[in-house]
Amino acid sequence: MGRTKTMRAGVFTGVGQMKVREAPLPDPPAGHVLLRVLACGVCGTDHHIYEGELTDGVAPPVVLGHEIAARVEAVGAGVDALSEGQFCAIDPVIGCGCCEMCRAGRPNLCDTITVIGYRMDGGFAQYLLAPASQVVPMDESVGPAGGVLCETLACVINGHDRLGFRAAGSAMVLGAGTVGLLWAQLLKQSLCSRLIQTEVVAFRREKAARLGADVVIDPAAGDLAERVAAERPDGVDFIVDATGDPTAVEQAMPLLARGGTFMIFGVCPAGSRVRIDPFELYNKEARIIASKMPPRTLGRSARLIESGLIPCDEIVTATLPLEELAASVAGFNDHRDRHVKVAIDPWAS
Ligand SMILES: [Zn+2]
Ligand SMILES: [Zn+2]
Repeated sequence: MGRTKTMRAGVFTGVGQMKVREAPLPDPPAGHVLLRVLACGVCGTDHHIYEGELTDGVAPPVVLGHEIAARVEAVGAGVDALSEGQFCAIDPVIGCGCCEMCRAGRPNLCDTITVIGYRMDGGFAQYLLAPASQVVPMDESVGPAGGVLCETLACVINGHDRLGFRAAGSAMVLGAGTVGLLWAQLLKQSLCSRLIQTEVVAFRREKAARLGADVVIDPAAGDLAERVAAERPDGVDFIVDATGDPTAVEQAMPLLARGGTFMIFGVCPAGSRVRIDPFELYNKEARIIASKMPPRTLGRSARLIESGLIPCDEIVTATLPLEELAASVAGFNDHRDRHVKVAIDPWAS
């Protein structure tokens, strides 16, 4: 099969440390597949782990990376539904299967969750092992960028389901990174009557405008409330935070319309606080709702990407070799003015 006995892997060995190493190439055990990684997206989660801000269940040495486009290289015993050469994305969320949340089809809320790419070896390597149940076949016409975005879009699809968006509603997305741009696609194509997007970085504001936002606002330049009131004097029906910045959440909450819904989607630091006016929420009969990781929504995400409705190549703006992994993860916040999603191709040099 032309497989070598070792592979190159970017191994997270401790806070602030990531090394490219030769690692043994595993054979797939029963029920598992060996996957050849085509590309793997660098995510804010990888950055938080690298910086030591997210430690829960992360046991170095481990290969990070959970936004994986791959091809099936070899299948273990008992795997009949997949065959060698199949293009796929990976669902990184593995619930215990036994708890109440798992039984209710919500493995993303499992208490003893395992995630490929930080509790199990992930995609910043030439190969990885995964249970066959986590492999999401895709048409290879979507290319590596389509595979890389499948997991993030699956998270956004879950959020969109939970948002309860109604056609003709107005919406505002805070942030125009990968998540914010994907949210804008789903809202726009859900017949949003006015889509406002906020973003502090000029490069990303231009992207947001090109990819469909009706109005793009720099929240750092002037009064956000005034700018939004100029568009929607009675407030916005659906507001989605895709920044994970508690200040942005606090600033935008009062801009909800009566009957509006605020979606907590970006990951704010644990323990952070925002001030809300409970009377105002009461008076508007507003809802605050949240969404966390993908509950088996990658199949729908794959179908949506295959449909061509998501401009994946506009969002994955760079593909870099494994040698650039540590710098890309460490500098996650430093390339916002040039890139949206950065992917690693472990075969590139
Ligand atoms: Zn991610
Ligand atoms: Zn469970």
